Amino acid sequence: MTTDLLPVTDRTQVHRLRDRQVRDRAMLNEILDTGLVAHVALCLGGEPVLIPVAYARDGDRLLLHGSTGAGLLRAAAGGAPIAVAVTHIDGLVFAQSMFHSSMNYRSAVIFGTAQVLDGADRLAALHALSDHLMPGRWDEVRQPTARELTATLVLALPLDEASVKVRTGGPSEDGEEIGAWAGVLPLRLQTGEPILAVGISADVELPDSLLTLRRRLSTKRQPT
Ligand SMILES: Cc1cc2nc3c(=O)[nH]c(=O)nc-3n(C[C@H](O)[C@H](O)[C@H](O)COP(=O)(O)OP(=O)(O)OC[C@H]3O[C@@H](n4cnc5c(N)ncnc54)[C@H](O)[C@@H]3O)c2cc1C
Repeated sequence: MTTDLLPVTDRTQVHRLRDRQVRDRAMLNEILDTGLVAHVALCLGGEPVLIPVAYARDGDRLLLHGSTGAGLLRAAAGGAPIAVAVTHIDGLVFAQSMFHSSMNYRSAVIFGTAQVLDGADRLAALHALSDHLMPGRWDEVRQPTARELTATLVLALPLDEASVKVRTGGPSEDGEEIGAWAGVLPLRLQTGEPILAVGISADVELPDSLLTLRRRLSTKRQPT
Protein backbone atom coordinates (compact mmCIF):
# COMPACT_ATOMS: atom_id res chain seq x y z
CA MET A 1 0.00 0.00 0.00
CA THR A 2 1.58 3.31 -1.06
CA THR A 3 0.90 6.71 0.51
CA ASP A 4 0.86 10.17 -1.07
CA LEU A 5 4.09 11.06 0.73
CA LEU A 6 7.27 9.20 -0.26
CA PRO A 7 8.90 7.75 2.86
CA VAL A 8 12.52 8.81 3.33
CA THR A 9 14.84 5.91 4.10
CA ASP A 10 18.58 5.71 4.71
CA ARG A 11 18.97 5.09 0.99
CA THR A 12 16.61 7.76 -0.31
CA GLN A 13 17.68 10.67 1.91
CA VAL A 14 19.17 13.39 -0.30
CA HIS A 15 22.19 14.87 1.45
CA ARG A 16 23.21 17.91 -0.59
CA LEU A 17 20.65 20.71 -1.13
CA ARG A 18 18.03 18.82 0.83
CA ASP A 19 15.37 21.41 0.01
CA ARG A 20 15.36 20.03 -3.53
CA GLN A 21 14.08 16.67 -2.32
CA VAL A 22 10.38 16.37 -3.18
CA ARG A 23 8.30 13.89 -1.20
CA ASP A 24 5.06 14.27 -3.12
CA ARG A 25 4.33 10.95 -4.83
CA ALA A 26 2.46 12.84 -7.56
CA MET A 27 5.81 14.31 -8.66
CA LEU A 28 7.35 10.83 -8.80
CA ASN A 29 4.43 9.68 -10.94
CA GLU A 30 4.73 12.69 -13.25
CA ILE A 31 8.46 12.13 -13.75
CA LEU A 32 7.88 8.46 -14.56
CA ASP A 33 4.85 9.07 -16.77
CA THR A 34 6.57 11.69 -18.93
CA GLY A 35 10.02 10.05 -19.16
CA LEU A 36 11.07 7.58 -21.82
CA VAL A 37 14.29 5.98 -20.57
CA ALA A 38 15.25 4.43 -17.24
CA HIS A 39 18.79 3.57 -16.18
CA VAL A 40 18.86 0.34 -14.20
CA ALA A 41 21.85 -0.39 -11.98
CA LEU A 42 22.86 -3.46 -10.03
CA CYS A 43 25.91 -5.20 -8.73
CA LEU A 44 26.88 -8.19 -10.91
CA GLY A 45 29.72 -10.40 -9.75
CA GLY A 46 30.95 -7.64 -7.45
CA GLU A 47 31.06 -5.09 -10.30
CA PRO A 48 28.59 -2.21 -10.85
CA VAL A 49 26.52 -2.51 -14.04
CA LEU A 50 24.24 0.15 -15.52
CA ILE A 51 21.90 -0.33 -18.48
CA PRO A 52 19.42 2.09 -20.11
CA VAL A 53 16.00 0.54 -20.83
CA ALA A 54 12.41 1.44 -21.69
CA TYR A 55 9.89 1.28 -18.86
CA ALA A 56 6.34 2.15 -17.87
CA ARG A 57 4.60 2.97 -14.62
CA ASP A 58 1.59 0.86 -13.74
CA GLY A 59 0.04 2.28 -10.58
CA ASP A 60 2.50 1.73 -7.75
CA ARG A 61 4.99 -0.35 -9.69
CA LEU A 62 7.52 0.19 -12.44
CA LEU A 63 7.48 -2.25 -15.36
CA LEU A 64 10.66 -3.27 -17.17
CA HIS A 65 11.11 -5.76 -19.99
CA GLY A 66 13.81 -7.21 -22.16
CA SER A 67 15.25 -10.32 -23.71
CA THR A 68 15.48 -13.40 -21.50
CA GLY A 69 19.13 -13.36 -22.63
CA ALA A 70 19.83 -9.89 -21.19
CA GLY A 71 22.33 -10.31 -18.34
CA LEU A 72 21.27 -7.44 -16.12
CA LEU A 73 17.55 -8.19 -16.37
CA ARG A 74 18.19 -11.89 -15.73
CA ALA A 75 20.09 -11.01 -12.57
CA ALA A 76 17.24 -8.71 -11.50
CA ALA A 77 14.77 -11.53 -12.19
CA GLY A 78 16.88 -13.75 -9.92
CA GLY A 79 16.25 -11.39 -7.00
CA ALA A 80 19.27 -9.06 -7.19
CA PRO A 81 18.43 -5.65 -5.67
CA ILE A 82 18.32 -2.89 -8.30
CA ALA A 83 18.37 0.90 -8.43
CA VAL A 84 16.57 2.70 -11.24
CA ALA A 85 16.91 6.35 -12.29
CA VAL A 86 14.68 8.40 -14.58
CA THR A 87 15.88 11.91 -15.42
CA HIS A 88 14.42 14.94 -17.19
CA ILE A 89 16.75 17.78 -18.10
CA ASP A 90 14.63 20.93 -18.26
CA GLY A 91 17.26 23.59 -18.82
CA LEU A 92 20.86 24.70 -18.67
CA VAL A 93 21.46 27.33 -16.02
CA PHE A 94 24.01 29.95 -17.08
CA ALA A 95 25.40 31.68 -13.99
CA GLN A 96 28.09 34.36 -13.84
CA SER A 97 30.63 31.79 -12.72
CA MET A 98 31.10 28.19 -13.78
CA PHE A 99 30.86 27.23 -10.10
CA HIS A 100 27.22 28.33 -9.94
CA SER A 101 26.32 27.14 -13.45
CA SER A 102 23.90 24.26 -13.24
CA MET A 103 21.01 22.32 -14.76
CA ASN A 104 17.31 22.42 -14.10
CA TYR A 105 16.03 18.90 -13.72
CA ARG A 106 13.48 16.52 -12.28
CA SER A 107 14.89 13.15 -11.37
CA ALA A 108 13.77 10.04 -9.57
CA VAL A 109 15.71 7.14 -8.09
CA ILE A 110 13.93 3.92 -7.08
CA PHE A 111 15.35 1.04 -5.03
CA GLY A 112 13.98 -2.45 -4.70
CA THR A 113 13.74 -6.02 -5.84
CA ALA A 114 11.75 -6.80 -8.95
CA GLN A 115 9.24 -9.57 -9.39
CA VAL A 116 8.96 -11.64 -12.60
CA LEU A 117 5.54 -11.44 -14.27
CA ASP A 118 4.03 -14.40 -16.12
CA GLY A 119 0.92 -15.31 -18.06
CA ALA A 120 -1.84 -12.70 -18.24
CA ASP A 121 0.16 -10.36 -15.95
CA ARG A 122 3.08 -10.43 -18.38
CA LEU A 123 0.81 -9.71 -21.34
CA ALA A 124 -0.90 -6.82 -19.54
CA ALA A 125 2.50 -5.41 -18.55
CA LEU A 126 3.75 -5.58 -22.15
CA HIS A 127 0.58 -3.77 -23.23
CA ALA A 128 1.25 -1.07 -20.61
CA LEU A 129 4.89 -0.75 -21.75
CA SER A 130 3.83 -0.31 -25.37
CA ASP A 131 1.16 2.23 -24.37
CA HIS A 132 3.73 4.29 -22.48
CA LEU A 133 5.99 4.69 -25.52
CA MET A 134 3.47 4.38 -28.38
CA PRO A 135 -0.02 4.99 -26.94
CA GLY A 136 -2.54 2.67 -28.66
CA ARG A 137 0.02 0.90 -30.86
CA TRP A 138 -0.85 -2.49 -29.32
CA ASP A 139 -4.14 -2.55 -31.27
CA GLU A 140 -2.60 -1.27 -34.52
CA VAL A 141 -0.14 -4.15 -34.99
CA ARG A 142 -0.25 -7.95 -34.78
CA GLN A 143 -0.36 -9.49 -31.31
CA PRO A 144 2.77 -11.12 -29.83
CA THR A 145 3.29 -14.81 -30.62
CA ALA A 146 3.84 -17.44 -27.91
CA ARG A 147 7.48 -17.61 -29.02
CA GLU A 148 7.97 -13.85 -28.69
CA LEU A 149 6.41 -13.92 -25.24
CA THR A 150 8.68 -16.76 -24.13
CA ALA A 151 11.70 -14.75 -25.24
CA THR A 152 10.63 -11.71 -23.22
CA LEU A 153 11.36 -11.19 -19.55
CA VAL A 154 8.95 -8.82 -17.79
CA LEU A 155 9.65 -7.42 -14.34
CA ALA A 156 7.67 -5.30 -11.89
CA LEU A 157 9.46 -3.13 -9.33
CA PRO A 158 7.36 -1.75 -6.45
CA LEU A 159 7.51 2.03 -6.08
CA ASP A 160 7.89 1.71 -2.31
CA GLU A 161 11.34 3.22 -1.85
CA ALA A 162 11.99 6.17 -4.12
CA SER A 163 13.49 9.64 -4.00
CA VAL A 164 12.74 12.66 -6.15
CA LYS A 165 14.96 15.69 -6.56
CA VAL A 166 14.00 18.80 -8.52
CA ARG A 167 15.88 21.97 -9.44
CA THR A 168 14.01 24.89 -10.98
CA GLY A 169 14.68 28.60 -11.41
CA GLY A 170 17.57 30.81 -12.32
CA PRO A 171 21.22 30.82 -11.30
CA SER A 172 22.40 31.21 -7.73
CA GLU A 173 24.90 34.03 -7.44
CA ASP A 174 27.41 34.93 -4.76
CA GLY A 175 27.87 38.71 -4.90
CA GLU A 176 30.85 38.52 -7.24
CA GLU A 177 28.86 38.98 -10.45
CA ILE A 178 30.66 40.50 -13.45
CA GLY A 179 27.63 41.49 -15.56
CA ALA A 180 27.87 38.54 -17.98
CA TRP A 181 24.58 37.25 -19.43
CA ALA A 182 22.95 34.91 -16.97
CA GLY A 183 19.73 32.93 -17.09
CA VAL A 184 18.26 29.64 -18.23
CA LEU A 185 18.25 27.96 -21.64
CA PRO A 186 15.17 25.68 -21.52
CA LEU A 187 15.62 22.22 -23.05
CA ARG A 188 12.92 19.84 -24.21
CA LEU A 189 12.47 16.61 -26.12
CA GLN A 190 10.95 17.18 -29.57
CA THR A 191 9.70 14.90 -32.30
CA GLY A 192 10.96 15.20 -35.87
CA GLU A 193 9.23 14.45 -39.18
CA PRO A 194 8.10 10.78 -39.35
CA ILE A 195 10.25 8.68 -41.74
CA LEU A 196 8.34 6.05 -43.71
CA ALA A 197 9.79 2.53 -43.56
CA VAL A 198 10.99 0.92 -46.78
CA GLY A 199 8.18 -0.98 -48.51
CA ILE A 200 5.31 0.98 -46.89
CA SER A 201 3.15 3.01 -49.27
CA ALA A 202 3.04 6.76 -48.68
CA ASP A 203 -0.77 6.35 -48.89
CA VAL A 204 -0.83 4.60 -45.49
CA GLU A 205 -1.96 7.21 -42.98
CA LEU A 206 0.07 8.11 -39.93
CA PRO A 207 -1.24 5.93 -37.06
CA ASP A 208 -3.10 7.37 -34.08
CA SER A 209 -0.35 6.07 -31.78
CA LEU A 210 2.25 8.28 -33.48
CA LEU A 211 -0.06 11.30 -33.59
CA THR A 212 -0.92 10.87 -29.90
CA LEU A 213 2.71 10.61 -28.86
CA ARG A 214 3.67 13.61 -31.01
CA ARG A 215 0.87 15.65 -29.45
CA ARG A 216 1.85 14.51 -25.96
CA LEU A 217 5.47 15.53 -26.40
CA SER A 218 4.62 18.89 -27.95
CA THR A 219 2.30 19.82 -25.07
CA LYS A 220 4.57 18.50 -22.31
CA ARG A 221 4.61 20.62 -19.16
CA GLN A 222 7.60 22.93 -19.31
CA PRO A 223 8.99 23.63 -15.82
CA THR A 224 10.67 26.99 -15.28
C1 LIG B 1 20.79 15.95 -14.87
C2 LIG B 1 21.50 16.07 -13.54
C3 LIG B 1 22.80 16.50 -13.49
C4 LIG B 1 23.48 16.59 -12.29
N1 LIG B 1 24.77 16.97 -12.30
C5 LIG B 1 25.48 16.91 -11.14
C6 LIG B 1 26.89 17.13 -11.14
O1 LIG B 1 27.51 17.36 -12.17
N2 LIG B 1 27.54 17.07 -9.95
C7 LIG B 1 26.87 16.78 -8.78
O2 LIG B 1 27.51 16.71 -7.72
N3 LIG B 1 25.55 16.58 -8.75
C8 LIG B 1 24.84 16.63 -9.91
N4 LIG B 1 23.51 16.36 -9.90
C9 LIG B 1 22.87 16.13 -8.60
C10 LIG B 1 23.09 14.69 -8.18
O3 LIG B 1 22.10 13.88 -8.80
C11 LIG B 1 23.00 14.50 -6.66
O4 LIG B 1 21.79 14.99 -6.20
C12 LIG B 1 24.18 15.17 -5.96
O5 LIG B 1 25.37 14.52 -6.32
C13 LIG B 1 24.03 15.20 -4.46
O6 LIG B 1 23.76 13.95 -3.96
P1 LIG B 1 23.71 13.76 -2.39
O7 LIG B 1 25.07 13.75 -1.82
O8 LIG B 1 22.70 14.67 -1.82
O9 LIG B 1 23.08 12.35 -2.30
P2 LIG B 1 23.82 10.95 -2.29
O10 LIG B 1 24.37 10.71 -0.94
O11 LIG B 1 24.70 10.81 -3.47
O12 LIG B 1 22.54 10.06 -2.50
C14 LIG B 1 21.65 9.74 -1.43
C15 LIG B 1 20.30 9.42 -1.98
O13 LIG B 1 19.66 10.64 -2.38
C16 LIG B 1 18.84 10.39 -3.48
N5 LIG B 1 19.25 11.29 -4.58
C17 LIG B 1 20.40 11.97 -4.71
N6 LIG B 1 20.41 12.67 -5.84
C18 LIG B 1 19.22 12.44 -6.45
C19 LIG B 1 18.62 12.89 -7.64
N7 LIG B 1 19.24 13.74 -8.47
N8 LIG B 1 17.39 12.45 -7.94
C20 LIG B 1 16.72 11.60 -7.13
N9 LIG B 1 17.24 11.15 -5.98
C21 LIG B 1 18.47 11.56 -5.65
C22 LIG B 1 19.03 8.93 -3.88
O14 LIG B 1 17.98 8.16 -3.35
C23 LIG B 1 20.35 8.57 -3.24
O15 LIG B 1 20.44 7.21 -2.94
C24 LIG B 1 22.81 16.27 -11.08
C25 LIG B 1 21.48 15.85 -11.13
C26 LIG B 1 20.84 15.73 -12.34
C27 LIG B 1 19.43 15.21 -12.36
